[in-house]
Amino acid sequence: MTENEILAMYEDAGALLNGHFILSSGRHSARYLQSALVLMHPRHAEALAAELIARIDPDAFDLVVSPAIGGLVIGQEVARQLNKPFMFTERKDGLMQLRRGFTIPEGARVLVVEDVITTGGSVRECMDVIREHGGIPTQILAVVDRAPDQPGRFDVPCATALALHVETYAPQECPLCREGVLPAVKPGSRGNA
Ligand SMILES: [Zn+2]
Repeated sequence: MTENEILAMYEDAGALLNGHFILSSGRHSARYLQSALVLMHPRHAEALAAELIARIDPDAFDLVVSPAIGGLVIGQEVARQLNKPFMFTERKDGLMQLRRGFTIPEGARVLVVEDVITTGGSVRECMDVIREHGGIPTQILAVVDRAPDQPGRFDVPCATALALHVETYAPQECPLCREGVLPAVKPGSRGNA
């Protein structure tokens, strides 16, 4: 798929939202990508995972790990196509953790998969957890990079299927807050929007 085809997939699914959003990083934005609305269709998830896998050496990993919740669907699908185990990290009391009885074999080479990256904070926290548990994060895959102009976010290679620059603002510098027309919303907290 070309980047335009992937973008069309997002638009067709109503997954490119316009408004006033608080991102998971705490920054504000006028646009939000709701990948869940694309990935809810298994065929889309399958196609996007295949796109991501085409960018890596599929034999270079022992398992796939994603930060919940965003990375769960695409991470599971990538792992399914690679026929590798899939685990996830999740926040509890604000802290990224490996729970649910998951254990990472010592020295396991880990492919980290996320749906959308911006600052990359969740992915970095996920990689910290993997390292604390003896794994070696070696590659990141994400469907969308929302800040392709920010190099150096990660200390391992990162490949994405779609680069889509979306302006974000620190809350105190947000022009949408200044206009005060639209209240800022956390997209995840409103169900599918
Ligand atoms: Zn704002």
